Amino acid sequence: MRPFTYIRVNSVKEAVSAITDQPMAKFLAGGTNLIDLMKMGVERPGSLIDISRLPLTSIEQHEGGVRIGAMARNSDVANHPLIRRRFPMLSEALLAGASGQLRNMATVGGNLMQRTRCYYFYDPTFIECNKRLPGSGCAAINGVTRMHAILGATEKCIAVNPSDMCVALAALNAWVQVEGPTGARSIPYSNFHRLPGVTPHEDTLLGPGELITAVDVPPLSFGSRSHYLKVRDRNSYAFALVSVAAAIDISGGTIFDARIALGGVAAKPWRLPDAEKVLYGRPPGEEAYQAAAYILLRDAKAFPDNAFKIELARRSVVRALATAAAMPEV
Ligand code: SF4
Repeated sequence: MRPFTYIRVNSVKEAVSAITDQPMAKFLAGGTNLIDLMKMGVERPGSLIDISRLPLTSIEQHEGGVRIGAMARNSDVANHPLIRRRFPMLSEALLAGASGQLRNMATVGGNLMQRTRCYYFYDPTFIECNKRLPGSGCAAINGVTRMHAILGATEKCIAVNPSDMCVALAALNAWVQVEGPTGARSIPYSNFHRLPGVTPHEDTLLGPGELITAVDVPPLSFGSRSHYLKVRDRNSYAFALVSVAAAIDISGGTIFDARIALGGVAAKPWRLPDAEKVLYGRPPGEEAYQAAAYILLRDAKAFPDNAFKIELARRSVVRALATAAAMPEV
């Protein structure tokens, strides 16, 4: 690990000012991803600005929904009664991520900022990685692609976003609150993470010096009828091969509304409005869920080791919707 300076800050204003003064600095919250990346030599910040003491840990009702402070720990969010009752898919997604110890350290802001677990990105002995070293190429494209993208990839990068929480946030139409050198702004979660395009080193829409302060989950009348399904190689402490966050609104034997987001398949959670609209007005059941799954996966393209993900994703969508439909409305 290279030497770095360490600065602890006590307010959002101090944090933004500290990082604006030092462009090579990084914010440190729970450190569950950044410290690993520093040990591997992937991240080499000149300074760490410790934001872990900022008073941004509250989880409270806000404009009919819930506002979650950026420093709230993943385990606290997952177990909070408001989240468990109103948005079970978010609680389930958080509990499906990492280990108990990591969830006790990891923060909501850090979860949004975690980087891909592409093996070639993590190992600097592979020179080719456009995300780590722009313009160097992509070792994964001709390498082992089992965990890589089937949607939204380019020849520049085929990595996936590793977060479970973000898949639920995508389905819930969450907003990310940030504060930066020019003031505060809100970013719809759907725009927060970027697809690789030709600049895969840019994971998010955050501008220089911007700090995440909170995540807002707006009200969703059928949020209690939601489910997060994660399929992985082992039952805990593994990243998703495929995951689905699904919510469904059923009344009188007809589907009125639905939300579906896919994880483990692209550089950001994958949602298509057409896949949700095809459910409207239909009776709940496998035929309707399969129609949604086929639309959601219509542009999928596999690499040599991950063709299985396409059928796995379709079946997972059907199962997640069926599970959500069977949940009692609260
Ligand atoms: Fe790097 Fe992306 Fe290629 Fe992985 S897939 S090696 S992160 S450019």
